[in-house]
Amino acid sequence: MDFELLKAADHEYVMQSYGRFDVAIDHGKGATLWDVEGKEYIDFTSGIGVSCLGYGDEGWANAIHEQAMKLGHISNLFYSAPYIGLARMLCQRTGMSKVFFANSGAESNEGMIKLARKYSFDKYGKGRGTVITLNKSFHGRTITTLAATGQDVFHNYFFPFTEGFRYADANDLDSLETVAGHDVCAVMMELVQGEGGVLPLDKEYVKKVADLCAQRDWLLLVDEVQTGVGRTGSLFAFQQFDVQPDVVSFAKGIAGGLPMGGIMANAKCAGVFTAGTHATTFGGNPIAAAAACHVLERLDDVVLDSVAEKGAYLRQQIEALDLPCLGKTRGLGLMIGIEVKGDKTNKELAAKLIENGLLCLTAGPGLRLLPPLTITKEEMDKGVAIMKAALS
Ligand SMILES: *Cc1c(COP(=O)(O)O)cnc(C)c1O
Repeated sequence: MDFELLKAADHEYVMQSYGRFDVAIDHGKGATLWDVEGKEYIDFTSGIGVSCLGYGDEGWANAIHEQAMKLGHISNLFYSAPYIGLARMLCQRTGMSKVFFANSGAESNEGMIKLARKYSFDKYGKGRGTVITLNKSFHGRTITTLAATGQDVFHNYFFPFTEGFRYADANDLDSLETVAGHDVCAVMMELVQGEGGVLPLDKEYVKKVADLCAQRDWLLLVDEVQTGVGRTGSLFAFQQFDVQPDVVSFAKGIAGGLPMGGIMANAKCAGVFTAGTHATTFGGNPIAAAAACHVLERLDDVVLDSVAEKGAYLRQQIEALDLPCLGKTRGLGLMIGIEVKGDKTNKELAAKLIENGLLCLTAGPGLRLLPPLTITKEEMDKGVAIMKAALS
């Protein structure tokens, strides 16, 4: 297949809302991908943290195939086994009480915000709808989740945005107190800020925020759209932060490559959504749910433990290259940020790596790596060798 023809057709028929790299991916196996012209790439992106089991995974494909042959979709007016089994597994492995299924990260966060406002409305009435989020956060691209996102660059063009958000600096309890008030119903945060630059929050800070939330009956909303589903070395990142959130959102990796998201609530919040107060046509779709069940079965303790080991190994190998354009690495598990130094931007470095056969991402001013959780040592070594060759 000719890349230039594909690109021309994209430009003719598809809205140009993405700044794409000059690559069209055709297929993959494990953490290795091939483009339409047969060129090989090592994948340090998993499609922005989605393809957690890598590509061409037989177990995953079989789970989808079997469910598609049985029942591809049925509305939420009826029960079906896959989403129920998935909800049970999620609750049993997280200590959360009940799940609502959605289809994307932004939509899951919308649900989480709606839940917080309704929790507060049911208990206190109107006037307590404000959600505090953090600067450098990212919560999605709908009008409301853009408003929730604590970065000014996202607050443009689409006025009027949803009201009821205020922003505090991460890891700064005084900043949170400054924007607090009688109108607040929740604090919403990513435990490792992803798009903002792979910025992990301090454990002590998160615990103090959780305490403050408990004191004031604010809900603690944790956006695990990127950090969830094994990415950080535990099934969800909050399990490493010694807090039990009121509501947790997830999406990206949950179904290993099919569109799915959702929220989990603790016992206090599990009954907030009553019949008719929140819904979505595709939520808990049987095929997506079957894929997600397979993903969760695969992410056992052995695999989760290997995520931390692989992350440590990859960071150590990258730092050992001692490249002049790269600084320190940071992150949790296989969610890795790399500082960019010198006169080249992160975008320029990413383009250079991709040209040389390594797919990687940017976040904030740095590079970001989110490899498939199943990546092998050989694939990591190949990727690091490409970094060395391309950036030396
Ligand atoms: C990707 C992401 C979102 C948005 O998810 P979509 O599926 O693109 O809507 C929200 N929050 C975080 C933390 C994310 O990383």
